[in-house]
Amino acid sequence: MTDRRFRIAVFPGDGIGPEVIRQAVRVLEIVARHTGTALDLTEGLVGGAAYDRCGTPLPPESLDQALASDAVLLGAVGGPSWEALPYDVRPERALLGLRERLGLFANLRPVVAFEDLIDASPLKAEIVRGTDILILRELTGGVYFGRPRGIRVEDGRRVGVNTMIYAEEEIRRIAVKAFETARGRRKRVVSVDKANVLESTELWRDVITEVGRGYPDVALRHLYVDNCAMQLVLNPAQFDVIVTTNLFGDILSDEAAMLTGSIGLLPSASLGDRHALYEPIHGSAPDIAGQDLANPLAAILSVAMMLEHTLGLPGEARRVEDAVRQVLREGRRTRDLHREGTTPIGTAAMGKAVCVALERKGAR
Ligand code: NAD
Repeated sequence: MTDRRFRIAVFPGDGIGPEVIRQAVRVLEIVARHTGTALDLTEGLVGGAAYDRCGTPLPPESLDQALASDAVLLGAVGGPSWEALPYDVRPERALLGLRERLGLFANLRPVVAFEDLIDASPLKAEIVRGTDILILRELTGGVYFGRPRGIRVEDGRRVGVNTMIYAEEEIRRIAVKAFETARGRRKRVVSVDKANVLESTELWRDVITEVGRGYPDVALRHLYVDNCAMQLVLNPAQFDVIVTTNLFGDILSDEAAMLTGSIGLLPSASLGDRHALYEPIHGSAPDIAGQDLANPLAAILSVAMMLEHTLGLPGEARRVEDAVRQVLREGRRTRDLHREGTTPIGTAAMGKAVCVALERKGAR
């Protein structure tokens, strides 16, 4: 046994959140047992569940819990019962609050085309095959936060305004994350901007280039966002790490997510200097909640990201990914991935299948 000990705040949230997080925690506990890692898991309330109990989507106790943890594992928030609430207490505010208070400036979304699901993609198999992209989106700056902003009346008509602004240190820190991450992968970074028309991204390009000089082993290429959007569907396998602004990252990561065919497969990590939050990219899926229909693989793959980025166990992260590949190869599918010739199974059975595959791979 080692003295490795981590505090993990677990926020299942709403809808299918609790169902998929239950399976993800099972996987995390197996890895902890195999590696002699002590985990201090504490469950807390966020989102609509928190609003119902405490009148706020992010109660102070949950925030304190997150601040005191090495990582947060979150399910999903939101649902029809809370849609009519005022903006300030909507479940989704919990996510913004956590991002802001934990200083999570880098959002990582891996997009991997699994060979056994290649037909689930809306693109032709020969285009999508080999796709393995990591999109790094700047999360706390840019046009989503810049001021001035708002809608005002000028000369008798309404004008809407937002401000796209980046300070060089905001660009530098996400650039460092991009180059460091690329070193652990295929050592290629594509930085996406619109430097031909937007000065804020001209600075983006300059700073990324400066930081890149410190990483001579990593190849850097710049693309305009319109070209990148096109390249993603033309030849997605050309990309390794893509780093971009908050706005462009929001759009490109959704475009890239669809390359693989199911939202139930895609994990994410949001990283800051001291904190990290891991969550599937899907929402609370109220249409299938509580019916054992949700795909838990995105939540399980979010645990793999936690193993890599917070627990310092990249080998175990690969083991979890391999276990996921293995169950897909065996033809096991939740309903969202079900095609003729495969066996549809429920959320809990899928979680169990991954656990069994992981145990089969054995302890270190
Ligand atoms: P959604 O991602 O919840 O669902 C979209 C569709 O994908 C639905 O048909 C759903 O059944 C399906 N789906 C999603 N995850 C799945 C999974 N793991 N397995 C199988 N099928 C899955 O998006 P939505 O319907 O637009 O939003 C529902 C609620 O979730 C809203 O309240 C929204 O605000 C919230 N939301 C939360 C987050 C988050 O917590 N990060 C993200 C997006 C949406």
